[in-house]
Amino acid sequence: MTAATDHVSVAAVLVAAGAGERLSAGVPKAFVEVDGRSLLAHAFDRFAGHPRIREVVVVLPAGVSAQLPGAFTPAVGGRTRQQSVAAGLAKVGAEIEIVLVHDVARPFVPPSVIDAVTDAVAAGADAAIPVVPVHDTVRRIAPDGSLAGTVDRSTLVAVQTPQGFRRSVLAAAHEVGRDLPVTDDAALVEAAGGTVVAVPGAEEAFKVTTPADLARAGAIAERVRLGSATQRRI
Ligand code: C5P
Repeated sequence: MTAATDHVSVAAVLVAAGAGERLSAGVPKAFVEVDGRSLLAHAFDRFAGHPRIREVVVVLPAGVSAQLPGAFTPAVGGRTRQQSVAAGLAKVGAEIEIVLVHDVARPFVPPSVIDAVTDAVAAGADAAIPVVPVHDTVRRIAPDGSLAGTVDRSTLVAVQTPQGFRRSVLAAAHEVGRDLPVTDDAALVEAAGGTVVAVPGAEEAFKVTTPADLARAGAIAERVRLGSATQRRI
């Protein structure tokens, strides 16, 4: 946090309206539990507990409500992630200048990443995205399954969330890019001619996609719980 930028008003939009039922039969991914709490609840802690975040909007599947340990503004999600983000954005308070959009499938975002994306936008970027290096060798594959060349991984980064946006820019990008096939909001801002900058992401902000990721998330959640219990005793 910098003294020059800590006065700006920041909201987080947590998108949790995906079906994503691969991990656990019948339960959308956001409601899968690790260490006794949903991925959504873990993600919520990180944003609701951050000193710069004034409002948290949680985008939920239609007909689903959530019990979370703090105040939040609910929004009903849409058929696509993009529609869900737009629904959340529409609920953000009028005074908010910076919006952080976050996938709850990433439950353990460190405060440093929230600060980095917020600072970059407060300093003038239209959007800021956290990135991490790609460690695997990456190859292209042809539609017939044959290998079609190796990509130079030193030219690649993997993109995480939260992605930070000047609120007015994100709203305009969603308006004009409603039908664009993109997988994140920064791509919409870029398509609308906005500036997107990269900031350091964090390994801890990994996306829970597979059962192995769930086990890793469980271990982190337990460590966090035991750590805060120790702090309370001190
Ligand atoms: O499915 P995918 O991994 O792209 O989902 C990323 C995030 O977007 C998840 O947090 C999911 O809950 C959310 N999402 C949503 N509404 C949708 C689809 C996905 O809120 N219609």
